[in-house]
Amino acid sequence: MPSKLVLCVIDAMAPAMLERTVADGGAPVLGTLLERGEYIGDCVSAFPSVTPVCAASIVTGAGQEQHHIPGMNWYHRQEGRYVEYGSSFRSAQRFGIARQLTDTVYNMNRAHLASKPETIFERLDDAGVRTAGTTYLMYRGRYRHEPQREGTLAKIAASTLMRHPVMGPRELFYADVFASRRTPCRSGLGMPGVRDRHSGCVGAHMVEHDLFDFMLFSLPDNDWVSHKYGPEAQIRSIAAADQQLARMMAPAGGVERFLEDHAVIVMADHSQAPMSAAIPLPAELPGVHVLGPDARAAEGRPLVAFCPSQRAAMVYVIDEEERDALRPAIVREALAMDGVELAAWMERDAGGAPREGAIRSAAGELRFAAGGELLDARGRSWSVEGDLGVVGASVRDGLILSESHPDALGRMMEALSCPTSGDVLLSTMEGYEFSDWGGQAHVGGGSHGSLRAEDSLAPLIFCGLDAGSRQGPWSIKDVAPVIADFFGVA
Ligand SMILES: [Zn+2]
Repeated sequence: MPSKLVLCVIDAMAPAMLERTVADGGAPVLGTLLERGEYIGDCVSAFPSVTPVCAASIVTGAGQEQHHIPGMNWYHRQEGRYVEYGSSFRSAQRFGIARQLTDTVYNMNRAHLASKPETIFERLDDAGVRTAGTTYLMYRGRYRHEPQREGTLAKIAASTLMRHPVMGPRELFYADVFASRRTPCRSGLGMPGVRDRHSGCVGAHMVEHDLFDFMLFSLPDNDWVSHKYGPEAQIRSIAAADQQLARMMAPAGGVERFLEDHAVIVMADHSQAPMSAAIPLPAELPGVHVLGPDARAAEGRPLVAFCPSQRAAMVYVIDEEERDALRPAIVREALAMDGVELAAWMERDAGGAPREGAIRSAAGELRFAAGGELLDARGRSWSVEGDLGVVGASVRDGLILSESHPDALGRMMEALSCPTSGDVLLSTMEGYEFSDWGGQAHVGGGSHGSLRAEDSLAPLIFCGLDAGSRQGPWSIKDVAPVIADFFGVA
């Protein structure tokens, strides 16, 4: 049995595109893993199905109600400002590149990610397992890493922004900012198209020098290609990712030899769907002013923050005393926007305690709360009132099932229960995406973020390890416990 484990995350890989690339012979390593392992083609993502939320769920094994990373863009109530993790370069410019980089590289793992639950790196580090990670949004572990001082790009970065150490896995390679060893590998400051090659290069170095028991091997470029050229183009980027898997495994003598002492999990955080239209950000909702990126309050008018996460968005009523009064109008106006399918919010009792979730579409309204007569496919119990058709669900043999909106109640409840989420959450119709604060969207390309199946179902492969049996669909949250089990960590 293998004693080491690699978790490979291929960002935004669509199950159908993985299957096609393998069938066409474009991904021989993934083909071998599929052939020898167990394949799940419908692992359920988080909602919003965007990378920061999903990456936190993957490394913690928890939803955002516990890990507190609510979106690609969100409003930080305590600091009175937007947090932007890099929807696009132009969006980052609107908020300030320095601030966006600081939020993404430092704050996301430290100030924004809840201290509990622990990450898989922290749990394995505590157990003495040798951990390693290539550039991935989530890296928090128990080992201290100083920023790199070598190389021109690293010098520029280190002299201005990236001056602080971070806590990561035992071996950490993060763009050109952190590198626990000297290698010839360069990431060009994390530019798209170079990032997978950087992972392949440092991954091969770690295999060659036997530097890990557990490695998170991240291949992010597929997401960028699929955003720009559409999900069909993944056939190229999955093939390119496969080459970096081969490169990482090569020092062991190729894939077959590698699998003798390494188990491998391959997964995506979410999928992508083709985009045909963008929803512009509103400057105003009736009677309500939308706070701009520069965070200047308009005088004498109620304010909301509007936070797009591609195919999802969150609206925060800035004065929390006003949120019950303003919410109905926000829900009404949001549902009137062309392309918005769902608006959801939490109903609270007089003391502010959550009472039940509500989801509304043009077709009707659904109320739901944990605990009750009905079960969902993942075994959680619910009481519901109103129209389950709002999320394409129906009840069969006491089970709430929805093909169009996978694990709709569970995922929406996690989003609504997250203390950093907005007051009203939005999810788009098929083909629609919100523009980000830089005015960018991916019309003609691909995107993700919604509660819908087309971007919420991801592939998952287990090869060389027993993933255990489970009832109902897999979630991206189920992978961290499998990894902990593999190493016998409670
Ligand atoms: Zn993406």
